[in-house]
Amino acid sequence: MEEEKKIKRPRGVARLIPGKCIACGARCEASCAKDAIEMNEKGEPIINTEKCIGCRKCVKVCPAEAIEMYYTPEEQKILAEIAAREKKTGAKEISVEEAATLAEIKEYKGVWVFVEHTEGDPAVVSWELLGAGAELTKKLGVELCSVVIGDKVEKLCQESIAYGASKVYVIDSPVFHYYRTEAYYKAICYLVDKYKPEIMLIGATGLGRDLAGAVATKLSTGLTADCTGLAIDDKGFLLQTRPAFGGNIMATILTEQTRPQMSTVRPHVMTMPSYDKSRKGEIVREAVPIKEEEIAVKVLEVVEDAKGAECIDLEGADVIVSGGRGMKAKENFAMLQQLADELGGVVGCSRAVVEAKWMPVERQVGQTGKTVRPKIYIACGISGAIQHLVGMQTSDVIIAINQDKQAPIFEVATYGIVGDVFQVVPALIKRIRESRGKT
Ligand code: FAD
Repeated sequence: MEEEKKIKRPRGVARLIPGKCIACGARCEASCAKDAIEMNEKGEPIINTEKCIGCRKCVKVCPAEAIEMYYTPEEQKILAEIAAREKKTGAKEISVEEAATLAEIKEYKGVWVFVEHTEGDPAVVSWELLGAGAELTKKLGVELCSVVIGDKVEKLCQESIAYGASKVYVIDSPVFHYYRTEAYYKAICYLVDKYKPEIMLIGATGLGRDLAGAVATKLSTGLTADCTGLAIDDKGFLLQTRPAFGGNIMATILTEQTRPQMSTVRPHVMTMPSYDKSRKGEIVREAVPIKEEEIAVKVLEVVEDAKGAECIDLEGADVIVSGGRGMKAKENFAMLQQLADELGGVVGCSRAVVEAKWMPVERQVGQTGKTVRPKIYIACGISGAIQHLVGMQTSDVIIAINQDKQAPIFEVATYGIVGDVFQVVPALIKRIRESRGKT
């Protein structure tokens, strides 16, 4: 019997459909990893078919469906043959490259959480991510591991286990005493190459954003920043949800072709897991061949943040009384400060307030401000734009005061008061003081 000849599935090349480009701002050019697209003076793409590898990314990102795949007549014939065979066998044929990618992806197992710390003092987001990671491992049936890098960081390994990690990869050396991008990203890439995790979670802090970007670039893998939701789909992919297009929509992003799937998550977005000191776990100690003399950056001095009057711990506060444009003027925030003082809380605000220069940016809650998760969040004269909600909607109790009963803030509020803040807030302060025997 004649052996069936294996035919490679043609990938084609991208081609612009004349007259359809809307000059959206060079999304196709940005999506091309092979620099095969340049823009002309009208903002339309010029596609270099010599460089195009037929990955289809530009086709997918084009909002006007102005790019299509082009196949030569010979390639079209091959595609027709493959389609006929697939119809006969009922099975989809995959290319050699696709088969190799799938095999490589299968080698990656487990969910990793990077444990951020400053000279051994852990960032709470790391533990929150262990909580989120535990949910993912349940669905995937894999191990939850933490990665601890630093100098004399044994305590953090034990803490990781108490917060749910079943295995800790630790690199403990004076080279890692202070965070330096080069040393840390090389250490993580070393571990990833050796142990191949399928998911890596990192806190979206200043340090975490810096590190995650460097690691993802070095590993040529996908990174979704500032995720507000993580889940696993039926095929085992990580569903990474985050606000997109200025927060007007929530996008769910998948990293299909590369591993690990990397996400950063802001502090206070995920719930803290329980702490159990009796939990047992394995500690894997690794030594990375990185020498001090190879690191270009040296830490000469550590300067702590100034603790001025503006410096309040908004993210760590149990009670936040937040004001929006409905507060009308800067001086009216004194009233919110009184309410916050009665409740042992702090004052936050919306971006509109920062833009009006009524409050400093450190007080801003939301997508471009702080993400908070207090026990009580009181929103006063805040409409509840999505960019504000993503920063506070996971608060335990939300009390909204707004004179417009249609305001979107009421959709996330536990208790809603439709009324004038200038009547409601003084009434609340009065009532609290009376209940405490104060006048
Ligand atoms: P408004 O939307 O003007 O709402 C004022 C509310 O006060 C109204 O609902 C009104 O009914 C009520 N009100 C008026 N008078 C009274 C009264 N006497 N008593 C009771 N209620 C009263 N916003 C953020 O907050 N944080 C962010 O991080 C953030 N990031 C953004 C990022 C991007 C890319 C973009 C495009 C926008 C961002 N915004 C952010 C802005 C956001 O879209 C809104 O414009 C902003 O949140 C509105 O602030 P506000 O609710 O205070 O004001």
